[in-house]
Amino acid sequence: MKIQLLPSTFDAQGRARSEQRLTCYVVDDRVALDAGSLALALSDAQRETVRDVVVTHPHADHVATLPIFIDDLFSRLTAPVRVHATAEVVRLLRRDVFNGTVYPRFDELHNGHGRVMEFAPFEPHRAFPVAHLSVTAVPVNHIVPTVGLVVADGAASVAFTSDTAATDDFWRALDTLPRLDALFVESSFPDALGELARVSGHLTPAALARELAKLSRTLPDVLAVHIKPSFRETVVAELAALGIENLRVMEPGRVYEW
Ligand SMILES: [Zn+2]
Ligand SMILES: [Zn+2]
Repeated sequence: MKIQLLPSTFDAQGRARSEQRLTCYVVDDRVALDAGSLALALSDAQRETVRDVVVTHPHADHVATLPIFIDDLFSRLTAPVRVHATAEVVRLLRRDVFNGTVYPRFDELHNGHGRVMEFAPFEPHRAFPVAHLSVTAVPVNHIVPTVGLVVADGAASVAFTSDTAATDDFWRALDTLPRLDALFVESSFPDALGELARVSGHLTPAALARELAKLSRTLPDVLAVHIKPSFRETVVAELAALGIENLRVMEPGRVYEW
């Protein structure tokens, strides 16, 4: 399984910058998990193959360019882009994003071939197919309805916390998996802002360590993501100081493989 965290910004030479402002992973050039930077950072080839988007929650850094992505493809789509989310998140996306004011109701619009977007609601704790993948969502502890994801392709299996503060169900679900190759875990704020992290539904490096301790297994690969750019240097140093084996900071733009 190939996984890329799409860059949020690029330097003057067009290279991905390490700061992450938006969240969007691309799996096997085919499926997007969240859509923060989807329309901005896909390659031209990926834009032709990504047709399923799983949305963990409706915060702007996770859905910002989803409407633009569909807009870019509008006249050329021969099948709708499928937006997978819980029924609650679908309701919020309809109300707050695809509402006819912020952006058109793409789920009601047709081009010459048919509808351009459809919502595919899923239920937590029940695996559902997305392209060649099997995805299971587990609610986490954020300030809006949010799910973490477990994604499997029949060989490898990886998990994403999405945005969360301390939580339990997600870790319990991971403990039941026969195999887990990698975990993508948020680490938004430095330890000094632990209270801000807690009330805004996020983790600090110290909180991340407490969460990982809830697992009864040792993970082969842990990638820290969603580090607020203004605190990046401090958070990266605090993550390193944890001394957790196999913990590294994910680099936007790089392709990781399991
Ligand atoms: Zn969020
Ligand atoms: Zn976020």
